[in-house]
Amino acid sequence: MLDAMRSDAWRRAAAVLAIPLLLAVSATPVAAAAASASMAAPAQPVPSAQGAPNACDDSAYSLLGGKWNGTLNWSFQSSTSPEEYTNSAVLTVIMRSFANMTGARNDCGLPDNVGATANYLGSTSLAPGVTKRGFCNGKDGHNVVGFGPLPSGILAVTCTWTNSAGRMVESDIRVNSSIFWALTVSTCHYWQELLEPTMTHEIGHAFGLGHVAERKHGRLTMSTTSDGQCNNGETTLGWGDIRGLNHLYPL
Ligand SMILES: [Zn+2]
Repeated sequence: MLDAMRSDAWRRAAAVLAIPLLLAVSATPVAAAAASASMAAPAQPVPSAQGAPNACDDSAYSLLGGKWNGTLNWSFQSSTSPEEYTNSAVLTVIMRSFANMTGARNDCGLPDNVGATANYLGSTSLAPGVTKRGFCNGKDGHNVVGFGPLPSGILAVTCTWTNSAGRMVESDIRVNSSIFWALTVSTCHYWQELLEPTMTHEIGHAFGLGHVAERKHGRLTMSTTSDGQCNNGETTLGWGDIRGLNHLYPL
């Protein structure tokens, strides 16, 4: 079975210039895979979303090329949770982020016709299959969310593995443990990033959504870049995000 492994699924902080672009493909069944990767660092500054349409008026989406056939069962590597918070407080935000995707949470008045489902299995000692450099490595058949080192400026990286039938077999999310995360808007300080919009974005990848360009579609949850510190606008999905989910997971 051919496994395609992807990590064009990172999320970038609003204030950083370098963009790692990672592409990796493997041609072996499950375990270790020969992977190729490339890094690209464009010279352009981070484009602004200011000219982008409102999320409710933007129909754009892209797909990674795989989808789950059933429920996405996931675990949390709770030992890596930021020490300033309780595990349960962090877990609550992650669970809410899953619900944002599976429930098509939006403020556009769009109905929830998304058939994607997720289920939390519990805490795990397993790590997500994402390296500290943001590469995909360590596929183990478990979908794991965890915190850990990542290159600076990268908020989080999602790696997904898809078989030759286009069925997703694993999605792992590593969240950058060097970022000062905030769990709620009301407690967010200006140097912090909110966890929920980033997690919602990454979970979009975990379900098979790809990126849309920041400059043209920067208000959508699946745009490449965070809206900035303490901004939770991308916690709610836009029209394009929901169109993508409906395409993959029609009811
Ligand atoms: Zn991303």
